[in-house]
Amino acid sequence: TTPVPPDIEIAEAATIIPIVELARDRLGIDAADLVPYGHTKAKVSLAHLRTLTDHPDGNLVLVTAMSPTPAGEGKTTTSVGLADGLSLIGQKAMVALREPSMGPVFGIKGGAAGGGYAQVVPMVDINLNFTGDFAAIAAANNLLAALIDNHVHHGNALDIDPRTITWKRVVDLNDRALREVVVGLGGPVNGFPREDGFDIVVASEVMAIFCLATSIKDLRDRLGRIVVGYTRAKKPVRAADLKAHGPMAVILRDALAPNLVQTLEHTPALIHGGPFANIAHGCNSVIATTAALKLADYVITEAGFGADLGAEKFIDIKCRAAGLSPRAIVLVATVRALKYHGGVAVADLKAENVPAMEEGMSNLRRHLRNVTEVFGVPAVVAINRFPSDTDAEIERLKELVAALGSVAVEATHYSDGGAGCADLARAVVEAVEACAGPVSFTYPDELPLAQKVKAVARRIYDADTVTFDAKARKKIEQLEAEGYGHLPVCIAKTQSSFSTDPTMRGAPSGHTVNVREVRLSAGAGFVVMLTGEIMTMPGLPKVPASEHIDIDDEGRITGLS
Ligand code: ADP
Ligand code: MG
Repeated sequence: TTPVPPDIEIAEAATIIPIVELARDRLGIDAADLVPYGHTKAKVSLAHLRTLTDHPDGNLVLVTAMSPTPAGEGKTTTSVGLADGLSLIGQKAMVALREPSMGPVFGIKGGAAGGGYAQVVPMVDINLNFTGDFAAIAAANNLLAALIDNHVHHGNALDIDPRTITWKRVVDLNDRALREVVVGLGGPVNGFPREDGFDIVVASEVMAIFCLATSIKDLRDRLGRIVVGYTRAKKPVRAADLKAHGPMAVILRDALAPNLVQTLEHTPALIHGGPFANIAHGCNSVIATTAALKLADYVITEAGFGADLGAEKFIDIKCRAAGLSPRAIVLVATVRALKYHGGVAVADLKAENVPAMEEGMSNLRRHLRNVTEVFGVPAVVAINRFPSDTDAEIERLKELVAALGSVAVEATHYSDGGAGCADLARAVVEAVEACAGPVSFTYPDELPLAQKVKAVARRIYDADTVTFDAKARKKIEQLEAEGYGHLPVCIAKTQSSFSTDPTMRGAPSGHTVNVREVRLSAGAGFVVMLTGEIMTMPGLPKVPASEHIDIDDEGRITGLS
C-alpha cells in the first residue's frame, strides 16, 4: 500500500465545487440565501434557516470515542469519512463539526479538519481564521471585559468588588505568559490595577453561549445572564447590568449564521463554533446541528474527548437544551487505544499485541454499555484503521465486540475516503432504523447539583464516591440559593481515564471523584464542576507545530496538518 500523503497536499490537490453551486445542487439553497466568503465557503443566512422550521428533521448520528491515547483516535476524521460513506451509498448526508482553534494548530495537535482522504476543505482556511467567527467571539468577550474595568474606573455605580471579577480577556493562541496578568497599571488614567488573566477564545463562556443559542434573541438573552463577578454586598453582577449584552450580540450577529463548506468528496459540511470540551460542552453550534437536520437525512456530528465526557455533555447539556436526540452513536475505537488501555507503553503501540488489546477491551466495553444502557441509543463501533494495525488485530477486535452483542466495522477512510466507510455507513443506517426512542439523560433537571455529579460519576465513570472541597460545597449551596440548581452540570475531567487520574487506564471502578472547584456559566446554562487542574490558556511545547508551517511566494502553505 502506498503511504497517504500529508493532509495539506491532499487538501490542496482537491477540486472544490464553488460553494454557491454546491448549496444549490445539494441543498436547494439559492445564492440569495448565502453569504459567501470567497468562492469555497459561505454562511447560510439565518433568515433562510427560519423558513425551514416546519421541515422534518433528519437522523442525528453522534461520533464519539473510547478513552483516547494522547494522539487522538480520529473522531473528526471518522465523522467526515462516515458522511462521505453515507453519500456514497446514496443517502443525503451532512457533517456538522467544530471550528478549529489556532492554539492547537500552532501548538501540539495541529489542525482539526480531518485527515488523510477524510477532510473538509478549504483546509487552510478552516484551520486559520475561517470566516472570522472566533475573532467576533473574542471581540464580544473583550468588550465585556473592557466595560467591567471602565465601570469601575468611572465611579463603580454597581459597587463591583474588583477582587471577585472572574471575567477574563481572551485570545485565540496558546500563550502561557498571559495566564496571569495585572491590568490597570500606570496611574489613575489607566483605571484601577487588579489581577486578571487571559483564556483561549474556545474557553470563553461567550463561545459556549454562541454554541447553545438558538436565535439572535436567545443569544442576546444568554449573554445578558453572564455573571462577571460580585458586588461588595455579594450580589451577582451580570453582563446585562453593564448593558453589555446588546452590543455583544451585535458583534456576533453575522458570526451566528453557520458556515457551509464541503468534504473532499463534496458532502456538504457545516462547521460552526468550537467550545472547549472540559469547562464547556465541546460540540459545534446548536444552530449548525439543527440547520443540518433540516437540510439532510443523515447528520453526522462530533463531540470532543471520549464518550464519558463528550457524549455525556452532548446529551445532558446540548440535547437537553436544544431538544435533540441522536438516533445512533458511533464509538471510534483504535487498535492502538485498546493496546494502550491494556497497559502497553506509548512507544510500543505499533507492535502487534492481541493479548494487550483483549485486556484493553474493558475500556471500550464500558463506553458501549454507557451508550446503549445509560443513554439508550444504538451503538456502532468504528475501527479506525491505522497503518500499523495488523489483520489479526482487526479480526480479533471485531470478534470481541460481536461477543458483546454489538457491531464493529473496520473503517479505512483515512486511506480510502468515503469508500472506506461504506460498510460503516450501512451499519449506521441499520442502527438508526433500529433506534427505539429518544435519548435518556443521565439525570433529571430537578436533581440537586451535587446529586447530578454523583449520577454521572456512578453511572458513567463507575466511581464509588464523590467528594467536594469545602469551597466547592459552599459554592454549590450559594448557586442553589441563587436559583441555579436546575442547571445541568459540566464536569471537567481528564479524558484519558474514566477516573480523575489520567494514569488509570482500562475501566477503573470504585474510585473517588473529587470536585475541587465550581464555576457558574449562567449564560451558557450549566454549572462547571472541576475535578482537576484545567488549563484554560494552554502553553506551547518546546518545538511548536508552528515551526514547520511556512508559505512560499505563490502563497503555497506547507506543514499544516
Ligand atoms: P479526534 O477528532 O478524535 O481528536 P482526529 O480525527 O482529529 O481525532 O485525528 C487525530 C489525528 O490522527 C489527526 O492528525 C489525523 O489525521 C490522524 N489520523 C486519524 N485517523 C488516522 C488513521 N486511520 N491513520 C493515520 N492517521 C490518522
Ligand atoms: Mg476532533
